[in-house]
Amino acid sequence: MSVRLPAALAAVVLLAACSAAPSKAPSAPGASTTPVAEAPVATHADDNLNAVAWSQTAIEHDLIYRQTYRDAQSRLLAALADKQWDALPKDDRVAPARGLKPAVVLDIDETVLDNSPYQARLVRSGGEYNEAEWAAWCNEQRARALPGVVAFTQFAASHGIAVIYISNRAKDLDQATLANLRKEGLPVSGPEAFLGLGTFVEDCEQIGTEKGCRRQLISHKYRVLMQFGDQIGDFVTVLANNAAGREKAMTPYMDWIGTRWFVLPNPTYGAWEPALFNNDYTAPRDERRRQKIQSLRFD
Ligand SMILES: [Mg+2]
Repeated sequence: MSVRLPAALAAVVLLAACSAAPSKAPSAPGASTTPVAEAPVATHADDNLNAVAWSQTAIEHDLIYRQTYRDAQSRLLAALADKQWDALPKDDRVAPARGLKPAVVLDIDETVLDNSPYQARLVRSGGEYNEAEWAAWCNEQRARALPGVVAFTQFAASHGIAVIYISNRAKDLDQATLANLRKEGLPVSGPEAFLGLGTFVEDCEQIGTEKGCRRQLISHKYRVLMQFGDQIGDFVTVLANNAAGREKAMTPYMDWIGTRWFVLPNPTYGAWEPALFNNDYTAPRDERRRQKIQSLRFD
């Protein structure tokens, strides 16, 4: 996932997850009395149910991915031919792009791989994100490729364009992640093909989980034709994760959306959510929920 919790906070979330007492779901009128799910099912309303259900079952979700990758593919060769074309943000373009090998840069989770089954498990249990269960899911290597991405990345690779994945998955998930990508038919080759959270970049100070240092690393070797992600942090460094900071980070690049930067939908998690409760995961779940409701517009 692109949004990770600090280790100390992860323990708090884990406790919260454990305290959500799962129990058998009530039967609907006329429903069979035979249990349909073996795992415990949470009985309370879950704020993520609609988001996860939409991601997994709505054809509109799949169409947005296909539309995005198809559109990107239709523009890719023109970007390749235009030697001035570069999709790295200015702060990360630390070496001139001219003459460098071409590349496309993609985030992994909810950009390339579909982790909605992990979110579905949280809906079923009533739990919240925690690192141990997330790692277990990643190690299953069962995430499916999202619609359109295999064709796009194979097209890029077939034209000599390097396919680079920048992910915030923890370092101990590197091998499982690469295996999952390959199983799904995604091209993985070259020393910079996968830059996970454990990537060390000399002379660059990593800010939290921001991807700027890794973008700077590839700026020395590649001219980046396009970037893909489900979080704005997949494209540019976000110095303040609040509404104003998020807008400020994107404002210089609005003309690049849909031409150099391709943004995919993620209603199930992301930095947009903690931005609504001041990024304070130590706040109780009900308090975070209260602040999220406060952030809504009613007229
Ligand atoms: Mg992502």
